[in-house]
Amino acid sequence: MSEQAMDAIQKRIAAMNRRVESIQQQDLYFYNQPIQELRGGARVLVNGREMAMYASYSYLGLVGHPKINQAAKQAIDRFGTGTHGVRTLAGTLTLHRELEETIAAFKHTEDAITYSSGYVTNLTVVSTLVGRGDYVISDKLNHASIVDGCLMSGAKFLRFPHNDMAALENRLRQVPESGTKLVITDAVFSMDGDVINFPKLVELCKKYRAWLMVDEAHSVGVLGERGTGIEEHFGMPNTIDIKMGTLSKTIPSVGGYVAGSKALIRYLRHASRAYIFSAALPPAQAAAAKAALEVILEEPWRVRKLRENTQLFIQGLKKRGFDTMSTETAIVPILCGSDEAAFRMTRAAQRRDIFVLPVVSPAVPSGLARLRATVTAAHEPDEIEMAMDLLEEAGREVGILGM
Ligand SMILES: *Cc1c(COP(=O)(O)O)cnc(C)c1O
Repeated sequence: MSEQAMDAIQKRIAAMNRRVESIQQQDLYFYNQPIQELRGGARVLVNGREMAMYASYSYLGLVGHPKINQAAKQAIDRFGTGTHGVRTLAGTLTLHRELEETIAAFKHTEDAITYSSGYVTNLTVVSTLVGRGDYVISDKLNHASIVDGCLMSGAKFLRFPHNDMAALENRLRQVPESGTKLVITDAVFSMDGDVINFPKLVELCKKYRAWLMVDEAHSVGVLGERGTGIEEHFGMPNTIDIKMGTLSKTIPSVGGYVAGSKALIRYLRHASRAYIFSAALPPAQAAAAKAALEVILEEPWRVRKLRENTQLFIQGLKKRGFDTMSTETAIVPILCGSDEAAFRMTRAAQRRDIFVLPVVSPAVPSGLARLRATVTAAHEPDEIEMAMDLLEEAGREVGILGM
């Protein structure tokens, strides 16, 4: 069909297909590479090659943990593989209540509610809590699911520059005194690995009487002495009104949750549409998530080791001349510049059997394309040293590091 005869949908489809084909022709296409096998916590088989894994969100190395696998298998034996539908009809199993009680205890709240994914949790919770006439205020680098929830809510959507607390205060001042306000942020930012200025954030929410919702997708298992998240990290318990998180990263399952007061959770159970109109978590995933939360507390060495590995990885990359931006956590960006530089760096690293992936525009601003490497508790220090040497070689080959 000629370009002119195409409607807008056909043009969009054609443009994306052209872009993908051109990247594939240059052998720079790394989208959806299938992992064939897990080999221990930190090695994977990809394209028939064993690679060291530096792209995993399993921060504490819990994927494949025997106690967690066992819990999932037992749940299948007891309940089968599906539920009987949505939670409000026959979908609620004793496992769901046990999981929600375990989440509430882990997050030090009265109760918790689970949904079928983290993405859906943000969508449904934000749009249930605020609506037309209310105000929702969001960090510019917040996750897409938060942005989508804010847009869907119909509330007035105000954003502030990343982690800029003076700008947040300006936003809060802009809202009429009587306006209902929800401030929402990631705890750890998923592209940059930096941490929100939590003490100031809490102070501002108190001062302007705003509700505070924090997405802990990358802080559970990562921040705090015991890995329980950002409140523990800053020694500020009971400061977040709505504690949101996912069961798909540190916790090797799938699903999302909110932990909070009894009244809040009861309200969400009766009012949030993704709870009322979408099926419950499968038994195996609910049981796995519960077991994982227990393992985090039972095996505190994992959180310590993650912290040590993170320091080793960030400091080692910096020493070798890489720009790791403002990260303080296990998400370690390696700045490449252009999208093409990030693709080339990925290829050079994968040819050395280091499994890393690029992040390019529009996920990050153009010119700030990067590898988003992650380090976990499953890595050994000598493996990390070796990986960094190989990344250094790759960086010189593609010109990100000087000769
Ligand atoms: C991954 C992620 C989500 C979505 O969680 P899923 O369970 O994968 O749907 C939400 N927020 C942040 C910050 C994330 O990184």
